[in-house]
Amino acid sequence: MKVAIVNLGRIVTGNWREPFAAGDAILVDGERIASVGSASADAVDAADVVIDADGMTAIPGLIDSHVHVTFGDYTPRQRTVGYLESYVHGGTTTAISASEVHVPGRPRDVEGVKALAVAAQRCFADWRPGGMRVIAGSVILEPGLQRKDFDEIKQKGVRLAKAGFGAVKSSFDYVPLVADAKAAGLITTCHTGGSSIPGSGAITGDHLLKMHPHVSFHINGGPTAMPDADFERVVVESEIALQVCTAGNLRTTLLCAKVAQAHNAFDRFIIATDTPTGSGIMPLGMLYTIAHLASLTDMPPEQFICAATGNNARVYGLDSGYLAAGKAADIVLIDAPDGGTQQTALAAIKHGDIAAIGGVITAGVPRFVGRSRNTPATARKARVAASRVTQDFSATAH
Ligand SMILES: [Zn+2]
Repeated sequence: MKVAIVNLGRIVTGNWREPFAAGDAILVDGERIASVGSASADAVDAADVVIDADGMTAIPGLIDSHVHVTFGDYTPRQRTVGYLESYVHGGTTTAISASEVHVPGRPRDVEGVKALAVAAQRCFADWRPGGMRVIAGSVILEPGLQRKDFDEIKQKGVRLAKAGFGAVKSSFDYVPLVADAKAAGLITTCHTGGSSIPGSGAITGDHLLKMHPHVSFHINGGPTAMPDADFERVVVESEIALQVCTAGNLRTTLLCAKVAQAHNAFDRFIIATDTPTGSGIMPLGMLYTIAHLASLTDMPPEQFICAATGNNARVYGLDSGYLAAGKAADIVLIDAPDGGTQQTALAAIKHGDIAAIGGVITAGVPRFVGRSRNTPATARKARVAASRVTQDFSATAH
């Protein structure tokens, strides 16, 4: 399918160092972005679907790098079906598993945790609930896992490993496990802060610096924060990615952003939700954290949109997260919410309002155009101006 998005007011690239692209159009061919900027009349005529954005802002689809997926579009923790599809209506087009730790009766032995990770990776490899891409299969680090185990599951398609819920005696016992997982080429992630569920212990700066995982999961606390003094240590003394989550401590979210900015480490600052958990299902969680950060710091809103898109893509090695030719065609149209005081999406976010969503495209397919079922209505009205495909683009269609 070829899709043309025209009449854009602003294009946010996903690259915080160069957050805006010139032009007013994006062309999509199949699952990839063909061009960003301007579109010829011929190219628009050739499109199967033409979306008139009415001056809205285009951003890359949000990448939530901390989602507690299990199997199917179901969360056992909150006993809810369809949450991933609902997150698409919050602008999240990619969910990265924070390990399948919520699977009821989850295994804890070496063969069991390997099998769980492989099965989860397979179950989401070709299935997109509501259009959502799910990167699943994060092996839970348990004592007894060895380098050959990580090599085996990496070869089978697993890309992620998670420290924090294993039956270790001390969190320092994760050090050799993380080292072996890294050596096998897995992206390693680690719970940070006070324990979130019985059985997991506090992990602070000392543990992170010894382990040196690729990502500090919810460095702001999940939900309980580590000592304030540890933030600067982790930023200055490591290369660890700094993941802040909606379901954490807001004060330390802001602290972490300021410390990252002050030490020229914003490349490593990434946004996620850490849901569904005890904190609930939060389809608009990414939008809330972007708005909190933009409105409560002196940094611009586009910088935090990039932290929720391009920065996550870079840390996790994804082909999405940027509006640029060749990247995955995951595109979200946002706007000022109807009835608010601000004129544009970015002004609304800076003001502390969440952006309203007027359309979501994933893998080159418009999932809905018009109104999200979860955000307020947009001030401007995006519409399908021309279509040669049999698809209802309204939000209630699927
Ligand atoms: Zn979590």
